[in-house]
Amino acid sequence: GHVDNPYAGATGYVNSDWSAKAAAEPGGSAVANTSTGVWIDRIAAIAGTGGAKGVRAHLDAALTQDAANGSAPLTIQFVIYNLPNRDCSALASNGELLISQNGLARYKSEYIDPIAEILADPKYAALRIVTVVEIDSLPNLVTNTNLAKCAEAQSSGAYVQGIQYALNKLHAIPNVYTYLDAAHHGWIGWSSNFGPTADLMASTARGTTAGYASVDGFITNTANYSALTEPYFTVSTTVNGTTVRQSKWLDWNDYVDELTFAQAFRNALVSKGFPSTIGMLIDTSRNGWGGAARPTGPSTSTNVDEFVNQSRVDRRIHAGNWCNQSGAGLGERPRPNPAPGLDAYVWIKPPGESDGASEQIDNDEGKGFDRMCDPTYTGNDRNGHNLTGALPNAPLSGHWFSAQFRQLLQNANPPV
Ligand code: BGC
Repeated sequence: GHVDNPYAGATGYVNSDWSAKAAAEPGGSAVANTSTGVWIDRIAAIAGTGGAKGVRAHLDAALTQDAANGSAPLTIQFVIYNLPNRDCSALASNGELLISQNGLARYKSEYIDPIAEILADPKYAALRIVTVVEIDSLPNLVTNTNLAKCAEAQSSGAYVQGIQYALNKLHAIPNVYTYLDAAHHGWIGWSSNFGPTADLMASTARGTTAGYASVDGFITNTANYSALTEPYFTVSTTVNGTTVRQSKWLDWNDYVDELTFAQAFRNALVSKGFPSTIGMLIDTSRNGWGGAARPTGPSTSTNVDEFVNQSRVDRRIHAGNWCNQSGAGLGERPRPNPAPGLDAYVWIKPPGESDGASEQIDNDEGKGFDRMCDPTYTGNDRNGHNLTGALPNAPLSGHWFSAQFRQLLQNANPPV
């Protein structure tokens, strides 16, 4: 059957590939039993690559965990992440398919079809299978079509058609749940981006066979670092008569944190036509911002920039920074129904897996070198030409980054 919230009352699948790496780090066993997303980030990942389990092997392991688990159902989370021109506004997670090289047709027949065929195997019918569909893709069509690869993704229709194809195949399987990626507040929290993104979600869903019903919910903050809650100010706070929205950090954003954004975005989606059963997920794997640098109360400064910079728990240099952020910590542990409108807090980005290499590394995964992962780079217009705040010596995106994992553990909030 298909329940409203696949996380409610369920146990989360532990990916032993990730878990072993986490447990091998000092202190890592304290979190190694956490459920994390399983990324199907290329065609070869369906069968399994380089010692990592493929989709069937994960589902078989999930059946074993489910059986060991008593009566609670088991939820396993897959990330569908292989659109042609993937990660069109950045380079670190570029993929293997290109629109100009028949990528959309290959995405459908060599990627989505085989995944859907495995997930539909009746053997797995008792599992609750969550799919997180195509990180950053639709938001890139709203804000980044000034970049050639995003412009092509939009004008060709490849992103929208690829997602519609995926939703049609995945929604047709009763025990599969679909969540579309809705970026994060530091990206679409401005009104100029917020409504258009909700509109694009709605028109994309309307173009599927089942319409709005093909989407179970949305996820924010996947693989990002935006704080869940800023405890020491809200969007209505004023400093000496000046709104915090006017600070350099917020730059007129309508949201100061992820929870208020996710709840408001859900309301917008319902007003565009999605059913009120949709639920939000927030990726809290790396947005804890604990440790010694975490403020313990609001600043007493009467200067709005100083007030916000001293009060905010999100310690990034700029909210547009996204790669291997220095100072970050593990966030809320995954749990269902944490707040109104939310299905769960989840760890989709497996903590300890890099966002991108800090220098050029040759590879056969299609991954490029994005200078947003280079700690010496002084930025671009998407991060206000600031330093990137990235940790040095990072490996390719998706590869194990021990130094980052150790820092995430140390700066966890809630503490581990
Ligand atoms: C990478 C993927 C990886 C995922 C999870 C992405 O940034 O491009 O290859 O599987 O992160 O770590």
